[in-house]
Amino acid sequence: MRIILMGPPGAGKGTQAKVIAERLSVPAVSTGDIFRANVSAETELGLEAKRYMDAGDYVPDEVTNAMVRDRIAEDDAAQGFLLDGYPRTVAQVAELDAMLADAGQSLDAVVVLTVDKEEVVQRLLKRAQDEGRSDDTEDVMRHRQDVYTEQTAPLIEVYDERGLLVEVDGMGAVDDVTARVFDALEKTNGAPAS
Ligand code: AMP
Repeated sequence: MRIILMGPPGAGKGTQAKVIAERLSVPAVSTGDIFRANVSAETELGLEAKRYMDAGDYVPDEVTNAMVRDRIAEDDAAQGFLLDGYPRTVAQVAELDAMLADAGQSLDAVVVLTVDKEEVVQRLLKRAQDEGRSDDTEDVMRHRQDVYTEQTAPLIEVYDERGLLVEVDGMGAVDDVTARVFDALEKTNGAPAS
């Protein structure tokens, strides 16, 4: 299966992505994790990405697209993958379409986790505390939400029009959300939702 997992910052995407991908036996490809690994390793990519991440902005599309193209061309992604945090812009959607077309592949579903805004902010504050993430100061946190609303939320309609959208309530316990995701995916049965 080839799945995209979407949701605002703090919706619990990363946690869900790992659990869902494991159950589907596909790799979870998190652009945020790849960027963070590069920042830690102080690679050239990491140094470039860090400026944007710390400000709560998106890393430029060319950088992100090239990284994803390389990652999903790896052997472990041949049978499928779960994309966590990509695509995030309309231009990235077009680029992903091109990557998949080149490989003769297509998407099965786009899962969007919907959450209460206040819970999102609470989750982000907690995560910033727990992980000491430098991209999670309060101002940056608000900015990241705005960037999501402006640049990423429009993708929901794009994928809905393609019949790929699966909206799932992302509130509550991790296990409950995972169960909802699988229920919703089973209902779509690989076929267009709605
Ligand atoms: P995440 O862990 O998914 O919230 O990503 C952390 C940060 O990495 C984001 O705030 C962006 O700065 C950057 N990032 C992750 N994915 C993308 C993407 N698809 N496009 C641009 N920037 C991204």
